[in-house]
Amino acid sequence: MIVTLLLLFAPGLKTTTTTKNLTYTKFLADVKAHQVKTASINPTGGVTGALKGGDNYTSQIPTALVDNQLAPVLKDNGVTITGVGGTSSVVTDLLSFLPLLLFIGVFVWLGRSTRRQLQGGIMGIGGSKAKLYDEDRPVTRFSDVAGYDGAKREVAEVVDFLSRPERYTKAGAIGPRGVLMVGPPGTGKTLMARAVAGEAEVPFLALTGSSFVEMFVGVGAKRVRDLFADARKRAPSIVFIDEIDAIGQRRGGSIVSNDEREQTLNQLLAEMDGFDASTGVVVLAATNRPDVLDAALLRPGRFDRQVEIPLPNQSERTAILAVHAHDKQLAKDVDFDAVSRGTPGFSGADLANLLNEAAIVAVRHDREVLTAGDLDEARDRILLGRRDASNALLPEEKHSVAVHEAGHALVALLSEHADPVAKITILPAGRALGVTEQLPVDEKHLYSESYLLDSLDVRLGGRSSELLILGEASTGASNDLAGATGLAIRMVRDWGLSPRLGPVGFSTDGPSYLDGLQQFQSRQYSEGTQQVIDEEVSRLLGEAEQRATALLSGHRRALDALIALLLERETIDGEELKAVVSAAEAAVSRTPETPTPDGSPAAADRPSVPSH
Ligand code: ADP
Ligand code: ZN
Repeated sequence: MIVTLLLLFAPGLKTTTTTKNLTYTKFLADVKAHQVKTASINPTGGVTGALKGGDNYTSQIPTALVDNQLAPVLKDNGVTITGVGGTSSVVTDLLSFLPLLLFIGVFVWLGRSTRRQLQGGIMGIGGSKAKLYDEDRPVTRFSDVAGYDGAKREVAEVVDFLSRPERYTKAGAIGPRGVLMVGPPGTGKTLMARAVAGEAEVPFLALTGSSFVEMFVGVGAKRVRDLFADARKRAPSIVFIDEIDAIGQRRGGSIVSNDEREQTLNQLLAEMDGFDASTGVVVLAATNRPDVLDAALLRPGRFDRQVEIPLPNQSERTAILAVHAHDKQLAKDVDFDAVSRGTPGFSGADLANLLNEAAIVAVRHDREVLTAGDLDEARDRILLGRRDASNALLPEEKHSVAVHEAGHALVALLSEHADPVAKITILPAGRALGVTEQLPVDEKHLYSESYLLDSLDVRLGGRSSELLILGEASTGASNDLAGATGLAIRMVRDWGLSPRLGPVGFSTDGPSYLDGLQQFQSRQYSEGTQQVIDEEVSRLLGEAEQRATALLSGHRRALDALIALLLERETIDGEELKAVVSAAEAAVSRTPETPTPDGSPAAADRPSVPSH
């Protein structure tokens, strides 16, 4: 854009022709109408050139769309590509304007650093044909992937299938077709996929979902076709699609309709449906946003297997450090167990980076041997500069997250009607810093009022715990609050659960799942009723907070014990939760510190731990 402005306003710019500033859409339309004679594209996506009518033009490719597929389209429509960066004929016309050229030069030079971001993109135009996807035969093995034994077992079946596809054909079995690996960035999903190919000794065709999604309708679909044709030719083989959410997003789900993405997705679905046992192609895909995927992708015969690749736990972190320390010399004082305890939330990639940074620190101190001090220094550097992709938690954050999640979990455990807790973790997952997972005993279709009330308590439990233990709430509870508010609104407005409003339901037509806030369509009630709804919602939430706080402060020992356990183990399951709470409660009843006036132990009037 800056280049464009400069072209227009550069002093002394006296071209005999006028220069039109075209929107990208107009530019494309002109290309397709064969109105464009030449085009030169700079690394930031600026396009300049001559129109058939004699005028010059400038335009700008939206950066999100910059890709090397512009070249074929230009060629197909008879546009001469005069260059990339500073060598275009347009620029040659302006040779007398050295400062401008210099400026563009700087841009080109700057552009080199953004080139990788543009995925080899625009620079590939006119030059050698950029490769659409990487294909190789990895030598990676499962032993290169530390930890994740469960995940390895799950993908081992793919290895077996690819090594001996004929066995499956003979048995009339349909082999695995698609495996979706779900987890945060840097957890080794790509590594795992390569290991599958390495173990099975088959070709590995890898590409990134975003490189499919094109500005030109039909290009992505064609790429999918080509890719799968290639994969079939080389079968048995593995196709790996990283960031599949870029193509696989729910169709019709986004505000801007995206025909191109839908076509690409449809093509992918069609390809996968076309497999039979003899095809011998397995598609592995990775995403950290399974929630946005189109349901069609997850149907049988497509990505019907999901493997979770979460952030590594402490012992896995130790193992990953060991794998990456292979080529490094370590001083005696390096204790990977200690390092892994100090790096909650680090992904495998972060840990590999940690060792590398530590090696750099060592070199700076003129050593070849890494010391514990080097690792500490490297860790601090990563933690401080972690703003970008890393999930790593600062130590004090880890504590608050433990306090928060312990609050949810304990309230859930102590509330009779709440779903049992399956897992609590203080390792970040997706956008959440920690997660308390409740699993319903069985799938519910109806929800009782007591269940809903308990559910409000559980949602507010995290914040209550923060207030109780840390003395202040944090932003960590915003999702909980939104969820609780959404639920309370529906209780009052849709389900007749407010005595003040009575048995009225203003429910709109949408589905009546417990997903809260989605339906704020046109209101069917008066301003006065809205007022009552608001008041009833805050009453419900206020009462829920009081109940949660009372439960937590009544079981303070259990809460403290749970927080300590979470800090130590990072992830615990429902059984461990029950065990630690029962142990703490037993300790309380053995040593009653605050007997109630009538002499009975304080624990007597508290609800006991339910046994679900
Ligand atoms: P993802 O595809 O999940 O974003 P990658 O597979 O690209 O993650 O991982 C990046 C790098 O991090 C790997 O190349 C490897 O060096 C390191 N890494 C991640 N997880 C592990 C692991 N479990 N064992 C060993 N190295 C790992
Ligand atoms: Zn929460």
